[in-house]
Amino acid sequence: MQTRILSGDSEINILLAALHLTAGELVALPTETVYGLGANGLDPEAVAKIFEVKGRPQDNPLILHIADPEQMELVCENIPKSAYQLAAAFWPGPLTMVLPAQDRVPLSTRAGLPTVAVRCPDCDITRQIIRHAGVPVAAPSANISGKPSTTTAQHVYDDHAGKIPLIIDGGPCRVGVESTIVDLTADRPRLLRPGGITPEQLETVLGDLVIDKAVTAQIDKDAVVKAPGMKYKHYAPQSEVVIVSGSREKAAAYIHAHYAKGERVLCFEEELTLYQDCDPLAYGKEADVATLSAGLFAALRELDDPSITKIYARCPVGGGVAYAVQNRLKKAAAFHIIDAEVEA
Ligand code: AMP
Ligand code: MG
Repeated sequence: MQTRILSGDSEINILLAALHLTAGELVALPTETVYGLGANGLDPEAVAKIFEVKGRPQDNPLILHIADPEQMELVCENIPKSAYQLAAAFWPGPLTMVLPAQDRVPLSTRAGLPTVAVRCPDCDITRQIIRHAGVPVAAPSANISGKPSTTTAQHVYDDHAGKIPLIIDGGPCRVGVESTIVDLTADRPRLLRPGGITPEQLETVLGDLVIDKAVTAQIDKDAVVKAPGMKYKHYAPQSEVVIVSGSREKAAAYIHAHYAKGERVLCFEEELTLYQDCDPLAYGKEADVATLSAGLFAALRELDDPSITKIYARCPVGGGVAYAVQNRLKKAAAFHIIDAEVEA
């Protein structure tokens, strides 16, 4: 199969993408978070193609993308007031809500769960495509399962050339990490995955938020978890990743003491000169955390090379969007963190 990349938001691109979706084909779509691998979310055969092409485990449910906030009423039921409040505050935007599913949402889309994840993305072209297709679009991150997510059309092409008919190129993704996921089906709202909408922002609207333990710790692969995808190894390059935390000076001292040829350092732009002899790659500025979230996956993909023996990574501290960057890097590192303030 030939894979076409179409750039821009011309009407012909929008109609072509919508036609592919209604015909049950896959289309890779830009969003403000990461590129998604989209299919008609109400068509089990189209959804099956997503799992096949990505190599995604069947028990890992998909997010349904809608063109306008009101459309959550087409796929969800018993929608709590809090969902309308969050939609008013953050949609279109990088927030996914888990809500009770209507029967019309195929079991394969929601991995057999009674709930469904839904999001209205902040990306005009993709919302227009969804609107024209007239169906909610199931779209997980477009990477091959287990690989770092795709934040450019080229990343999608690298993973899926010859396997999908169409990629819509909307430029690099603004946020760069996947959406925040909040579960509204339990007694208390629960954060299942941090992202561009921060825990602080959610609390302002909800007044209450529980952080799921999958956000902060490694989950056993056999565990029964609320967010099924979270038990799988994610975002990881092929080589071992170790986070080195602590002050700039202490971290540099630790890394210089342990660095060996063939290893790499993933650091902040402000630190590049410190690691001149350690093959450094910067993923953004520590002083501007949005550049770190936007650059993280492109950097992890660049470092996804079997000849690299180890990656020492620097991770931002604090809340806000830094919380999401920490979560992705810790998962890439399988929660292997060295505190340079204690270890020399
Ligand atoms: P992604 O591959 O980035 O699109 O991630 C989709 C993630 O959303 C899954 O891995 C789950 O963690 C989460 N998710 C989707 N649907 C549900 C659901 N019904 N209940 C809980 N989590 C969900
Ligand atoms: Mg993913």
